[in-house]
Amino acid sequence: MVLFSGGQDSTTCLAWALAQADRFDAVDTVAFDYGQRHRIELDCRLAVLRELHRAFPAWAPRLGRDHLIDLTVLKSLGESALTDERTIELQASGLPNTFVPARNLLFLTAAAALAYRNGIAVLVGGMCETDYSGYPDCRDATMRAMQSALSLGLDAPLAIETPLMFLDKAATWSLAWSIGGDTLVALIEEQTHTCYLGERGTRHAWGYGCGHCPACRLRALGHARWQSKRMG
Ligand code: ZN
Repeated sequence: MVLFSGGQDSTTCLAWALAQADRFDAVDTVAFDYGQRHRIELDCRLAVLRELHRAFPAWAPRLGRDHLIDLTVLKSLGESALTDERTIELQASGLPNTFVPARNLLFLTAAAALAYRNGIAVLVGGMCETDYSGYPDCRDATMRAMQSALSLGLDAPLAIETPLMFLDKAATWSLAWSIGGDTLVALIEEQTHTCYLGERGTRHAWGYGCGHCPACRLRALGHARWQSKRMG
């Protein structure tokens, strides 16, 4: 089961899982409605699924069920720049106010419950230590601890796999290309959504977005670095 938001990272993870026919005979997807500022990610993810079906017929039969879980309780626990109209800035803690405390812990717990009920033993997520503003709920140590806690609490082995954990954004573009070539890269550029501000007006080389928010800057910089490495 892939935690699939419709962004660049989780789309790359989904392709990574689909490409491993020997390991996974079916790949479900799950997303969370946590009262995010913009619904656009949730719309984009359906477009990504549709395009994956169309562009990769060999993967299509193994693309399993898609789930959407209501976690709007997160919004009731406090404000953040991801769920409310606030300027993105650094807080006294050193973390940006796009940090939604314990968001990934809740996501993983909900996904684990759903996986358990569906006989699924592997969760795949795009969490990453290198890029994500130091979000502590994306770190490898947190993922290992969650894997232990969930396996113990469910009394069943549950693996959490994070193929992007130690990759920067340029390496993530490169991984997508190595999995699905130009077709997958074009799909990610065109269909996925990363921008914190929900902007999809302007099409850049790296896709749609405001071009200025931290998420757009990371995506744009990674794309440029990957392109220049390819050319060089
Ligand atoms: Zn943006």
